[in-house]
Amino acid sequence: MESYRIGVVGCAGRMGRMIARIVQQTEGCVLAGGSDRPDCGALGSDLGVLAGLGALGLPVSDDTVTLFARSDAVIDFTTPAATAIHADLAAQAHAVFVVGTTGLDSAQEKRITLAAKHTAVVRAANMSLGVNLLLGLVEQVARALDPDYDIEVLEMHHRHKADAPSGTALALGAAAAAGRGVDLERAAVRSRDGITGPRNPGDIGFATLRGGDVAGDHSVIFAGPGERIVLEHRATSREVFAKGAIKAALWARDRKPGLYSMRDVLGI
Ligand code: NAD
Repeated sequence: MESYRIGVVGCAGRMGRMIARIVQQTEGCVLAGGSDRPDCGALGSDLGVLAGLGALGLPVSDDTVTLFARSDAVIDFTTPAATAIHADLAAQAHAVFVVGTTGLDSAQEKRITLAAKHTAVVRAANMSLGVNLLLGLVEQVARALDPDYDIEVLEMHHRHKADAPSGTALALGAAAAAGRGVDLERAAVRSRDGITGPRNPGDIGFATLRGGDVAGDHSVIFAGPGERIVLEHRATSREVFAKGAIKAALWARDRKPGLYSMRDVLGI
């Protein structure tokens, strides 16, 4: 079988570089190229060198249209605005589109949904096996417990993270809400400050910590009368996200158009 050509948008970023390296090291896959913003500081650099490999003769470019045209699949860990544009390009090029970017607003989400009418899109706020297992466990526990158990989601990430709460924390909140049969939009309390008064029954609270180089820690706390259940995941390396994204791209090869989740990819 011919090598599967994977393009990386945002290839100069923390995740982009790691994904480029692991694509090149994955059997049956080859880098189609990488693109980033004109002001990223890496334009024209060799993608292989940027990714910590030897030179590959693939300069980082800002020509995203050409990148999509020559890729079987494109992996996107960039920004919400960029991801919305890339979704349109994926639809036009019929390239498999794997999206890890978090913090999208509803208009940007819609562009992803539209793209999925034309090509296979895999989207997950977290591409790790552990977090996707945790999502199922959180839903189960929330379903089993009565509403007397208060649900709080706590997350910590590195100092550069742009959005809060993390996409994973929101996904965990959504899993808890689904288990409890409530709407997260109504139940979520995304920050607290000052004289907040007592906690409202049924709230799903979020708390965010930022600092250092933390790859991603998440806990879901079910605090009831006389006991507390804590479900926790800690990522110790971003590699789990990069490997998950490449697994998703391979899984989506030749799949019919549609919006898929990491739980589809992992079969859980
Ligand atoms: P980063 O800032 O290091 O990298 C983002 C890259 O995207 C930068 O190089 C930036 O220049 C580039 N970019 C921005 N606009 C662009 C455009 N229009 N065209 C091409 N490139 C563009 O950030 P990061 O830590 O790599 O994270 C990126 C995103 O991935 C964030 O939303 C983060 O929350 C998410 N993330 C998701 C997972 C997951 O498993 N789903 C894991 C880690 C991070």
